[in-house]
Amino acid sequence: MTTTHFKNVDWIVAWDSSTDSHAYLNGADLVFKDNEISFIGPSYNGDSDVVVDGKDLCLIPGFVDIHAHPASEVYFRGLREDHSVPEHYMTGLYERSCVYAIDQDDKHHGAEVSYADLMLSGVTTLVDITFPYPGWTDVMARSGLRMYAAPGFNTATWYRDNHHQLKYDENEAKGWRDFETALSLIDELRAHPSGLLNGIVSPVQIDNNTSDILVASRDAARERGLLWTTHASQSVVEFNIMVERHGITPIQYLDKLGVLGEGAILGHSMLIDDHSWIRWHTKLDLKLLGDSHTAVAHCPTPFMRYGTILENLNRYQDAGVRLGIGTDTLPHNYIEDLRYAAIMARIAGRDGNIGSTADVFYAGTAGGAKALMRDDIGRLSVGAKADIVVLDLDHPLMKPGRDPLAALIHSAAERAIKDVYIDGKQVVKNHEVLTLNRIEAAGRLREGQARMESGARQRDFAGRSHEEITPLTLPTVES
Ligand SMILES: [Zn+2]
Repeated sequence: MTTTHFKNVDWIVAWDSSTDSHAYLNGADLVFKDNEISFIGPSYNGDSDVVVDGKDLCLIPGFVDIHAHPASEVYFRGLREDHSVPEHYMTGLYERSCVYAIDQDDKHHGAEVSYADLMLSGVTTLVDITFPYPGWTDVMARSGLRMYAAPGFNTATWYRDNHHQLKYDENEAKGWRDFETALSLIDELRAHPSGLLNGIVSPVQIDNNTSDILVASRDAARERGLLWTTHASQSVVEFNIMVERHGITPIQYLDKLGVLGEGAILGHSMLIDDHSWIRWHTKLDLKLLGDSHTAVAHCPTPFMRYGTILENLNRYQDAGVRLGIGTDTLPHNYIEDLRYAAIMARIAGRDGNIGSTADVFYAGTAGGAKALMRDDIGRLSVGAKADIVVLDLDHPLMKPGRDPLAALIHSAAERAIKDVYIDGKQVVKNHEVLTLNRIEAAGRLREGQARMESGARQRDFAGRSHEEITPLTLPTVES
């Protein structure tokens, strides 16, 4: 057992059980013993192995990222930032998924870089939704992150043979086989000696799965005490296809299947019936999500790049939705997503007094923890896990130092994050990740991306090159 004592800390974002939320605490001590917080308050007098001077520090709980695809999305840096397909109501998701495939052996480099970036931005718990690849368990275990691995499966895959329609290649047998493989992998992860690896049952997209497998997978999750996650109401295209198939909205379809409720996390449930881009005749979706306490993974960045926003964060929170924040794509920078979540809520609500810094900070910590049905992460309180982020108040972007969370989210972002502890172990020290080799892995990304680009022409129905589908920011001229 090691006892670490942060002494006389300038600011602690502590959990106030009387309001069931965070509150500032000044000039107090925080102590953690092994992997658990054992003391928060004035003048700790007990033993300790390590004492840290709390001057110019602010301690906050680690962030809970409830939706990301770290192994693959990093390979789209330079490809996806300006990629919107007008015939698909601006989302570029379907075209990219159809024309770009990442080699299985390249994915662990992607995860190594992205996990490191997430920890540098204060993420201590991560939901990683991916199709399993060689080396995944190894990189998860080495990272030191508190992991929720969601090994994906689908009974159909997307394809296109023209510019405007999304079509489905059915392979139900494969979907069921991959579902079984996912359950076995989750069992292995839960038995891992680190105790930090957990699993989530994940049919990846609502439109790529049969009703039978959606229900069976949710049942399997419930029997095993596991969470369940899928993408639903994530685009106008998907909304329209689900209506065409079932006559009701994606959310109403999930409700009818009986899969909503506690323990279900939906990415991203943004394009719901009353959204201004949808304007369906019902106004039921948000109420169904809220009344059932379903969790929604709100990931503002990839959507705002397509010109789409959640309408809006506070409406979801007020309806009873367990709203958490995810990074989803790029950059793997949690605090930028918090900032965008706040700003986009204000734009969507046409109201500068919503999407407060406190609201998004809550969503990024305790909100995410609630989505994962936990009360021992996403907060600094006695008995909670020692998942702690140390902010450097001496950083110029944190000055003049009046309100650390406002400065962190709206000015400094990850630049103020000095140290990170997960389960009592230090994983970031002086802005460097201790557990992963970020620089080496980042150096391997271009090779993998070039392999992905070289296959585009053959995979694209129109035979276009990667330069035609996703042009560079500027034309290249002869030197
Ligand atoms: Zn996603």
